[in-house]
Amino acid sequence: MNKANLKDHRQIGQELDLFSVHEVAPGAIFWHHKGWAIYKTLTEFIRSEIEKEGYQEVSTPVMVKSELFKRSGHWDFYNENMFNLLVDDEEYSLKPMNCPEAALIYSTKTRSYHDLPIRLAEFGILNRNELSGVLGGAFRVRQFVIDDAHHFIRPDQIQNEILDLLSLTSDFYRKLGFEPHFYLATKPDKAMGDPKLWEEAERDLENALKAAKVNYDIKKKDGAFYGPKIDIHILDSQDRDWQLATIQLDFQIPERMELEYIDSDGKPKRPVIVHRAILGSLERFIGVILEHYQGALPLWLSPIQVAVLPVSEKVEEYARGVFEQLKNGGIRVELDSSDKPIGAKIREATLQKIPFMCIMGTKEVEISRKEDFFVSVRSREGEDLGIQELESLVSKLKEDIEKAK
Ligand code: ZN
Repeated sequence: MNKANLKDHRQIGQELDLFSVHEVAPGAIFWHHKGWAIYKTLTEFIRSEIEKEGYQEVSTPVMVKSELFKRSGHWDFYNENMFNLLVDDEEYSLKPMNCPEAALIYSTKTRSYHDLPIRLAEFGILNRNELSGVLGGAFRVRQFVIDDAHHFIRPDQIQNEILDLLSLTSDFYRKLGFEPHFYLATKPDKAMGDPKLWEEAERDLENALKAAKVNYDIKKKDGAFYGPKIDIHILDSQDRDWQLATIQLDFQIPERMELEYIDSDGKPKRPVIVHRAILGSLERFIGVILEHYQGALPLWLSPIQVAVLPVSEKVEEYARGVFEQLKNGGIRVELDSSDKPIGAKIREATLQKIPFMCIMGTKEVEISRKEDFFVSVRSREGEDLGIQELESLVSKLKEDIEKAK
């Protein structure tokens, strides 16, 4: 790849009409409908995956009293990065993370050892006060969404739970053509929680990494003060290293928020929390894949999957029929009914990185039978895929989209 021609995600976002940023909201993304289509496709995909894994999706408030973050321990380490405001003389914060609120949901019931793991997923809107000087497109933002989840588990469940998460994460990244690399970050000098629990937890994490048969390295003493973690890195098409996913154990919030479950001996015990994100920040993830693919996203993620390009006005009605059939088939489709010459329409669709073009002139109309449309198909790479029957094209595209997920 010629590096001189590489575009950054802001330029790609503008050219493909995906998102914009505005002076009035530094560090926040305005998603246009095509960018939002990518966003929705990713979140729908994650939702369908975690549903199979027995997660419960929840939604919690963006603005809560600051006392919650004081209780969870975030305030001491994080309040400089939080947006805090006074409402009716009381101090409130915009949440910078979902964890304390997930913990509140957990604490609304008496939990028994056989209820665990409880996995609460949330696509909550988070706000963090990054300095305006370091804001940049979708990579450094003040408002964003993480594909977040909190698993409340017993200490004896750590290894299995982590193993499941490692395969969920690896499967996802391999689908996108990345080979993830894992780092186990161990106990730092200043750490909270029982040293024996740390030791066991680190051993469980390492056993899970071995059992998952993934590549990993150890980052000594690089864990969070509240627990050991696994960071997941990928290399993009330009050989840049990105940390996207993360799996973190937490002994602190359960302690500070006095979370409990009733164990088999009838006694209350502390659960362990696993914080995990597969994509990480959706904003950042989309920025990374836009640069990785230079805008030419795989078919299933493309905001527009097929462009319908009539050669002339004479076949406009026919083109509309083709458009409707693709749309009804669940394909994201756009019709170019402008009066530009067909060469210009093809060029435009190619620049827009639309994976397939359906082109029709009088020839295609003539060979069409009463109920079946025929179209000439072309790929964004410029390959001529010949004249095809629309119905079978739609089924083939749908099959490819499902297979890619
Ligand atoms: Zn969390």
